[in-house]
Amino acid sequence: MENEYRTLLVAIDCSEDSGRVLARAAAVAAKGARLHLIHVIEPLALAYGADVPMDVSDLQASLMDQARKTALEHAERFGITPEQVHVELGAIEKTIREKADQLGADLIVVGSHTRSGLALLLGSTARGLVPGAHCDVLAVKVDQSS
Ligand code: AMP
Repeated sequence: MENEYRTLLVAIDCSEDSGRVLARAAAVAAKGARLHLIHVIEPLALAYGADVPMDVSDLQASLMDQARKTALEHAERFGITPEQVHVELGAIEKTIREKADQLGADLIVVGSHTRSGLALLLGSTARGLVPGAHCDVLAVKVDQSS
């Protein structure tokens, strides 16, 4: 059926919320759909400013290795093969959007925390993704008790 989602990209931050986000993605995927998982590492220079006063490439590489291990553990629980696990370096929203385009994804699935106060001003990953995305975006509420 053409209304079904066939190529899904699930973005996880590797926190404990990730299982809920993955479970929702698996639930809306069509039978036989491809589920891809992405976890993005922000370059240390991006997070701390361009002039980090030392060579951080080894640290960056070991962060990537560790993140890949964690992402693979999450993936395994949902039958996602290692080829469909993408651990990328870059700005989170842009990298997720680019990967979705590259895969021809028809749905991006992300978690979404309820915000109040100052956090509202910062906005959420889901909200940042929607304007430039070329496919549907599902924001899974991750801080509800049910
Ligand atoms: P937020 O409501 O902005 O805290 O968004 C949290 C959600 O954004 C997570 O559940 C993930 O779906 C996504 N997300 C946040 N950080 C990352 C990351 N580093 N890599 C991939 N997805 C992420």
